[in-house]
Amino acid sequence: MEGQLFTFVKGGPIHWSCMVGKIKERLGNNLPVDVVALLDLNRHIHEGILVAKDAEAISSEDARAIITARRKALEGEAAKMNNDLFRLIETKYQIRVF
Ligand SMILES: [Zn+2]
Repeated sequence: MEGQLFTFVKGGPIHWSCMVGKIKERLGNNLPVDVVALLDLNRHIHEGILVAKDAEAISSEDARAIITARRKALEGEAAKMNNDLFRLIETKYQIRVF
């Protein structure tokens, strides 16, 4: 799952691991605990989107409608979480990652 995990930043889609690498490049390998906490929750949200996509592919129409609605909600949360994460890094650590 980790390999196909990706997210969206200002420049467009990016692998999750590449985004974390970019953050470490700017903030240092030993990330602050608050950044780690946000990244951890954010990764779960992004993994949930993949779980939903897999479930949509094998579900019946009625179940699929339910899952699709949850996936779209998660995609909204993922976008908000990315914004909040990069805003915190910028305001608290004065570092612009992207
Ligand atoms: Zn990559």
